[in-house]
Amino acid sequence: MVNAELDALLALQASDGVIREIEGRRAALSPRLALLDVTQKRTVEEVGRIESSLERELTRQRLLDARIADLRSTHDRAAGALAAAERISDAAAAASQVEVARRALAETESEAHGVSRRVADLRTALAAHREVLAQVSQDQGDARSELERQRALLDAELATARMHRQLSASTVSADLLGKYERIALRRRSDAVIELRDFSCGACDTAIPLQRRPFMMAGGRIELCEACGVLLYRKARE
Ligand SMILES: [Zn+2]
Repeated sequence: MVNAELDALLALQASDGVIREIEGRRAALSPRLALLDVTQKRTVEEVGRIESSLERELTRQRLLDARIADLRSTHDRAAGALAAAERISDAAAAASQVEVARRALAETESEAHGVSRRVADLRTALAAHREVLAQVSQDQGDARSELERQRALLDAELATARMHRQLSASTVSADLLGKYERIALRRRSDAVIELRDFSCGACDTAIPLQRRPFMMAGGRIELCEACGVLLYRKARE
């Protein structure tokens, strides 16, 4: 009876080892998925930044174009007035207006030229970054589905391992199971350890002499007084 319970506990411990190992592999996938997310997000943000810069420059371009049209008509009106002037004073005033309009026009056109250059540069950059984004999305699609596939496989393995654990747990007493789980949780590793020549297999502390006959019977489970693991010795058949 005691032996059957020990065997069940050891089987449960083996399942826990398998579960820990699968969970470790599953957890290792998360940073890889997160890295994919970061790379994609960065590329999307870069495209967004270029798009809004382009939008700003296009608005400036429209304003400058309207101003240039205004300045041209001001200039043409002044030039017309200059041509039609009959008095010296009228001609002088019109000539000064022509000059002012001409200078303002030259400045605005030069500014508009700079904006056009930036618009062209931004359009080139936008096309390049959109291409990068398309490439990243495609590469990531493959990498992502591969990671998802691995995760689904691990989830299936995990479900099987948990089912095996459940089966073993059903034949271990609640008291022993509780002890085992506390120790395993604390150690994040095996909680049931086989004796090695009457010493604890985990910490190597010797079992007191008076307890040895009890353990000799085999199939018994005892706490190690030094490190707190559950010790057992297999019954010799
Ligand atoms: Zn020990």
